[in-house]
Amino acid sequence: MSSIHDTPRPFRYDAEVDPGEVRHIQYEVGETYLGRPVELPVTIINGEHAGPRLCLSAAIHGDEVNGVKVLQEVADRYDPADLHGTIVCLHVVNVPGYIAQQRYLPIYDQDLNRSFPGTEGGSTASRMARVIWDRFVSKCDIGLDFHTSTRNRMTVFHGRADMEDEGIQRLVEAAGIPLVMSGQGSSGMLRRVATENGTPIVTVEMGEANRFQPMLIDLGVQAVENVLAAYEMYPEATPRRPEFQKVLTSDDQKKWIRADHGGLVEMKWGPLPIVDEGETICVVSDHFRTEEHVVTAPFDGFLAGILANPRVLPGHPLVHLVEITEEDREHVRRSYEQVGFARHGTFHWMGKMGEQLAEPLLEDGPDEHADDD
Ligand SMILES: [Zn+2]
Repeated sequence: MSSIHDTPRPFRYDAEVDPGEVRHIQYEVGETYLGRPVELPVTIINGEHAGPRLCLSAAIHGDEVNGVKVLQEVADRYDPADLHGTIVCLHVVNVPGYIAQQRYLPIYDQDLNRSFPGTEGGSTASRMARVIWDRFVSKCDIGLDFHTSTRNRMTVFHGRADMEDEGIQRLVEAAGIPLVMSGQGSSGMLRRVATENGTPIVTVEMGEANRFQPMLIDLGVQAVENVLAAYEMYPEATPRRPEFQKVLTSDDQKKWIRADHGGLVEMKWGPLPIVDEGETICVVSDHFRTEEHVVTAPFDGFLAGILANPRVLPGHPLVHLVEITEEDREHVRRSYEQVGFARHGTFHWMGKMGEQLAEPLLEDGPDEHADDD
């Protein structure tokens, strides 16, 4: 790592943040129609002691907000007097998408996460990416980039990273991410470009778009804490390891199972997101319930992604099924039994666990409270 220096350094973007200083800034990365600056909220915590520079980024897809909450928490948590190195929080990378509450940059739907490292004379996305890359990301040594599933789906807490890269292997191990899907990623992706340029960055996927999901946010904050501990950036940090760590390569079977019929979906898996070959995952029916199409698991696996909108058209994804060994299935089962899978979801429609939720609210027999207002 290039960052292990003996003396603490100022962090330079185009101003300087001295060792021991915390600075919250609004950094101009573009311009609106009205000629006003588009400003990226950034926190730089520069430790009094020398150490690596950790880049944390969220909402590069503008509707993916679990990570925004992780960064708000992190930016407020660490004292520069005890920090060895620097934490750079890019709170909302895609500011225009965030304002519009949408994934892509308005209005041409450019994907900021396919635009790195960007060029000064390029598209809106490319210019914005260039500024963010030059001023902040390229100055860091390692990073976590927080995402969620795209809207109408949810995803379990997992990482995406190129596990062929040694820096990535160390970072994934350090962060304590239980499930990692290994792959280079698409061209222009922040994590891919950064990793290729010597700043290993792991994508952390968790939950749904447009939601705060407290348990997943806690896991995200803990992943940051784990990294600070493993890279000896914060002596007080308390790492917590997951019960299992599993890396999936492209050789492992994983498949988005899609609807073949339009209609209403009823999930039948549960309570844990593990299914056996042939087990019913869900049923797609028409509104008169004259036709019911049963969707079964083509192999034993684990549901890493799940539809969170009960209306489908043919071709819509239902679940992302990932094949795992019998041994890993037991680890998955145990770790979910510990934390309770229900807490991963939100209060709306999610699997067959819903059947038991109403039970304690319902009374049998005559209504004793009939005279109440
Ligand atoms: Zn995303």
